[in-house]
Amino acid sequence: MRAGQTHLFVPGPTNVPEPVRRAMNVPMEDHRAPDFPNLTLPLFADLKTVFGNESGRVFLFPSSGTGTWEAAIQNTLSPGDRVLMARFGQFSHLWVDMAERLGLDVVCCDVEWGAGVPLDRFAVLLGEDPSIKAVFATHNETATGVTSDVAGVRRVLDAGGSDALLFVDGVSSIGSLPFEQEKWRVDLAVAGSQKGFMLPAGLAMLGVSRKALDVAAAHTGPRCYFDFADMIRTNDLGYFPYTPPVPLLHGLRASLGLLLDEGLEQVFARHHRLAEGVRRGVDALGLHLCAVAPEWYSDTVSAIRVPEGVDAAEVCRIGYNAYRTSFGGGLGQVAGKVFRIGHLGDLNEVSCLAALGAAEMSLADAGAPVELGAGVAAAQNWYRTAAANLVAA
Ligand SMILES: *Cc1c(COP(=O)(O)O)cnc(C)c1O
Repeated sequence: MRAGQTHLFVPGPTNVPEPVRRAMNVPMEDHRAPDFPNLTLPLFADLKTVFGNESGRVFLFPSSGTGTWEAAIQNTLSPGDRVLMARFGQFSHLWVDMAERLGLDVVCCDVEWGAGVPLDRFAVLLGEDPSIKAVFATHNETATGVTSDVAGVRRVLDAGGSDALLFVDGVSSIGSLPFEQEKWRVDLAVAGSQKGFMLPAGLAMLGVSRKALDVAAAHTGPRCYFDFADMIRTNDLGYFPYTPPVPLLHGLRASLGLLLDEGLEQVFARHHRLAEGVRRGVDALGLHLCAVAPEWYSDTVSAIRVPEGVDAAEVCRIGYNAYRTSFGGGLGQVAGKVFRIGHLGDLNEVSCLAALGAAEMSLADAGAPVELGAGVAAAQNWYRTAAANLVAA
């Protein structure tokens, strides 16, 4: 027997809070029952609050987040449509790959992995090419721990007089970082259940603006499973066009309750406070983030570069085998070079100290010259100050 719990610090799936886990443990029920809308209609309303979506709607698809990338594209764009995207990590890379495979004419800005959406280059490219129908931005690149400025993308679109649709991947940001779909006029905002919503994977969310709903209604391209029209027809009455994952909906009820009870502003502030402690710990260990400048630092995930000669995959293996702690590995271009601490969802100061403590041991075992305790101590100091400020406030 191996006593104690296994520690999960991958940036998704995140830890499921106990009340959410219990809420999902329900007997199967009739998803066409007369009282089923009592469960679903408030979910749609509360999701709009979390997305900051006032005049549009939020769909729930039984899929992982990748499915809503596809839903967003299929309902609004056609093969041959020109779109502007930026690639700076594994997730933005995969979205580009999907767009190309679905036949879109992708203008792709390649950016150093560690930076984010290049607003200046977007401005130039939009100015040069009025045929661009949509602009895609990965809000939080989970592979590199980089958060981009979505409000800035909106400013660039407005300054250039572009009426292109704005697509945003918010899978590892929505529900954890400030997100304002209405204010930023994000047309299609993608999220998934297993990150900030603290659920298992399997329930993807798609926030759609009024404008994108109109575009989708007029769109003639083929789609079926992800068709907005089928969803709208049934969702308006509290139902789905096919069988929804009902236990996940009960889990979502509980997780939205937790997020809204804590208060979204407090949730965002907590993520910032916890992330800052992790960053101070990383700095005190003499290590560097993959994010190349503070403007890009993500409050939901830190990708940490290992010193020359150390294999980041080995750090993860040691963490798992010796200390029963899962870190995120490096993906794509940064495989072997970074490991990731996910600090989003159901966690607190002591969770982050545990992550740093396990990381220190794993790094040292993998041959990195780190001083045990230095990272934990730096984070402790920050958390004590932050706690004192919270009490004073
Ligand atoms: C996790 C993640 C995805 C993929 O979501 P799946 O649920 O695995 O399909 C897409 N984009 C970002 C930014 C992510 O973090």
